[in-house]
Amino acid sequence: MSVHSKLYEGKAKILYTTDDPEVLLADFKDDATAFNAQKRGSILGKGNINCSISSQLFQQLEASGIKTHFIDSPNPNQMRVKAVKIVPVEVVIRNIAAGSLCQQTGIELGTVLKQPLVEFYYKNDQLGDPLLTRDRLLLMELATAEQVDAITHLALQINDFLKNFWHSCGITLVDFKLEFGLDSQQQLLLADEISPDTCRLWNTAEADPNRRVMDKDRFRRDLGNVEDAYQEVLQRVLQAVEIKS
Ligand code: UDP
Repeated sequence: MSVHSKLYEGKAKILYTTDDPEVLLADFKDDATAFNAQKRGSILGKGNINCSISSQLFQQLEASGIKTHFIDSPNPNQMRVKAVKIVPVEVVIRNIAAGSLCQQTGIELGTVLKQPLVEFYYKNDQLGDPLLTRDRLLLMELATAEQVDAITHLALQINDFLKNFWHSCGITLVDFKLEFGLDSQQQLLLADEISPDTCRLWNTAEADPNRRVMDKDRFRRDLGNVEDAYQEVLQRVLQAVEIKS
């Protein structure tokens, strides 16, 4: 496979075209940003770790019947993916209250939600990724009503699967962000990544609110040991996958 030109550089990944127009190469970076890129830094080894965790999770999801953009991972920090047109919406699924849900509603951190909450945010850095209502999403024609329904259904299915998977790693899935894309046949595929950058992951055995954090909140909130936490998540994922197979 020969790599052509840089198609797009985001905050955490660079996308390259390849000799096959249906295939892109995603290069995962060590760069870390938070608070709409107001905080910038680097997490040593993050590119390799997030690419490896995402690759494992996409393969697990595929095996459970969820269609994803994942093809393979030719190098530790690189993933070959199916080219898709990204739906410009960040889909957030929450099982436990944290982050902006607490800030915006006053619900106490750690409150277990009676049922998972699916939310849509407009993927637009200039506007600060605002929370959307379903009607606003349709008004802005970011997706069709059928696509919104299909995305909601998929998001809940993925949440069920991932909650169980992370549980088998001794990790509590608090909340996470997904992105979806449409392939050349207009088929919805799970895209982007699933990693400690995009999920809130708490060490189930740890009650201390700072020590339990195994995700990007360690970077956002300067909790220290960021690399160790990411590495620990990867080790647990690899172990869980090995036991399953
Ligand atoms: N998230 C993400 N990218 C974003 C915004 C949120 O991956 O641009 C993830 C975040 O890591 C968390 C979940 O989505 O797992 C919910 O984030 P929240 O809305 O609470 O925002 P935050 O508090 O992270 O700013």
